[in-house]
Amino acid sequence: MSSSADSAAVRTDGTVTDRLVEANRRYAAAFTDPGMDARPVLKVAVVACMDARLDLHAALGLELGDCHTIRNAGGVVTDDIIRSLTISQRALGTRSVVLIHHTGCGLLNLTEDFRHELAAEVGQRPTWAVEAFKDLDEDVRQSMQRVRTSPFLPHTDDVRGFVFDVTTGLLREIDPQS
Ligand SMILES: [Zn+2]
Repeated sequence: MSSSADSAAVRTDGTVTDRLVEANRRYAAAFTDPGMDARPVLKVAVVACMDARLDLHAALGLELGDCHTIRNAGGVVTDDIIRSLTISQRALGTRSVVLIHHTGCGLLNLTEDFRHELAAEVGQRPTWAVEAFKDLDEDVRQSMQRVRTSPFLPHTDDVRGFVFDVTTGLLREIDPQS
């Protein structure tokens, strides 16, 4: 244990970030170098929504070093997700892609009006689409399709999509053909 961890006082005030930094001192004090390289052990990349109720490692039985987790609002396959998947496959050896959306997603309540209202408010049109959706299953299919048809990805034969139920913790697989 380092002396800085020993001397770190537990803060009960301060910002949320202070709390995180304090938690990190405790984490690092107990941490031992796992001696891993950057290539995910299970050769899989998981693309999921950023939702706070979705603990990917716990829900999928993943350990440190097992996979890439790539997250954004909705788990939508945007150009930036394709960018990360391309690096994941071509530079870091992953072969499989798992896509996870979930019940109660914030994007189910939004429309592209969000983008228009934002532009009207701030006087600048965002370059990105909101990618809101009404049908979870259909959006998972759309996401699988975007991954499978990307010219940048060499490995598109093992791409599967799921909806995570935030009330039961269960995944439901989506048939890409339905
Ligand atoms: Zn979500």
